[in-house]
Amino acid sequence: MADGTVNGTWSVVITGEQWALLHAHLFPGDGDEHGAVLRCGIARSARGTRLLVRDVVIAEDGVHYVEGERGYRRLTAPFVAENIDICAQEHLAYIAVHNHRGADVVDFSDTDMASHVRGYPALLDINAGVPVGALVFAFNAAAADIWTSDGERHTAAVRVVGRPQRILTAAPAPTGEADLTYDRQARIFGDRGQALLAGSKVAVVGLGGIGSLIGEYLARLGVGELLYIDPDRLDPTNLPRVVGARRSDVLPLLQDDARPKWMQALGARLATPKVRIAARVAHQASPTVRVTSIARSVVEADVAALLTDCDQIFLAADSALARRLVNSVTHQYLIPNTQVGSKVTVVDGDVADIFSVSRMSTPGSGCLQCNGLIPAWKLTEEATSARQRRRQRYVDDENVHAPSVITLNAVAASRAVDDWLMSLGGLTEPWASADHWVSYHPLTDEVIELEPTKSPGCPHCGPSRFALGDGRALLSKPS
Ligand SMILES: [Zn+2]
Ligand SMILES: [Zn+2]
Repeated sequence: MADGTVNGTWSVVITGEQWALLHAHLFPGDGDEHGAVLRCGIARSARGTRLLVRDVVIAEDGVHYVEGERGYRRLTAPFVAENIDICAQEHLAYIAVHNHRGADVVDFSDTDMASHVRGYPALLDINAGVPVGALVFAFNAAAADIWTSDGERHTAAVRVVGRPQRILTAAPAPTGEADLTYDRQARIFGDRGQALLAGSKVAVVGLGGIGSLIGEYLARLGVGELLYIDPDRLDPTNLPRVVGARRSDVLPLLQDDARPKWMQALGARLATPKVRIAARVAHQASPTVRVTSIARSVVEADVAALLTDCDQIFLAADSALARRLVNSVTHQYLIPNTQVGSKVTVVDGDVADIFSVSRMSTPGSGCLQCNGLIPAWKLTEEATSARQRRRQRYVDDENVHAPSVITLNAVAASRAVDDWLMSLGGLTEPWASADHWVSYHPLTDEVIELEPTKSPGCPHCGPSRFALGDGRALLSKPS
């Protein structure tokens, strides 16, 4: 565990809402022990294995969680059997949960460990080799003992992806002092906050006006790993907004209006990809940042797969297909996202409305699909125009020429990164709502907050996809 983060290891990821439910059950203030079972989807990547809590099953005191013969409390055999059956059917990991007294340090007792040794080999068999194990909580700490079919046992941190975010470990994680470069912001977030930034992998989808600003903020803040995805190359009309763009990036001699059309088209084809400009900015801002630049569409299956082990996704691409993909990844892999955009509406040549918007969504709520922000007509239109574009090789994308200005983009970009930063740093007040959707309207000087709703049975955040991780195909285009 480098820098107090959970990289390269095992973690159990739980939403803010689930955590509130579980914590209230374990710590009702009676100082007693209580129990529960977590059924979890699984996500594996080079960064580690995440068990994604799909169901929190509360064990009722005296019914499912009872006094055992050896003097400690335990889950009843029927309760364990029912849950392991469901796990086996749905290929979910099984995690038994109980609590001990105490606040910041916790560990299993010898009796706990002996019961794991007696019970888990059989449970692992019943669960067809899908991991089983246990978590024990103190008020602010968690220890794990996860068993896998290769005979290994793993410790894990618990990551609460609510607002604010939290990481619970068996004991407070030691953090070194932050690099002096970051001294002034570490005075806000602490050395631990700076270590969390350094250990984070953050994706920015769309590196145009807003995404390029977000990319710069993230790199300067000291985020350790950035994933940039955008298929477009810089266009001369992007120069007033794309951070770090140089005139030479658009090959002005070829793209000059006075040149023949074929030469302008050649210039457009050779212009610098937006992801490469963003990577250049990031490396100038931070000597240690790792940047992966993908100059392709996020909806292609192998590109989409890169999102699935990020800690946060900023969605700054104005496309319904990209929204559909990122939104579904958020709920399937429990990765928060923030959708950002700005829009200027012109009616008969007059500016009718201007707004910029930032929608931070935590997994399990704040779903773009539930709130009508992924309209079916737009998905169809985009799929059709993509086909036409392939046929005609080059058509003007209306988004390139939509009205836009850097200042409006900066409001949304700044708000989006700020919301994430406060949440990651644990500074957001726990009573703040899980999702923060806010739009700014400069013509009327209004800031409007929106409360997202949730519809049951939603194909993105509902049971057909929620927390299933690698167990469900992504909503990407098959490659
Ligand atoms: Zn115990
Ligand atoms: Zn939904």
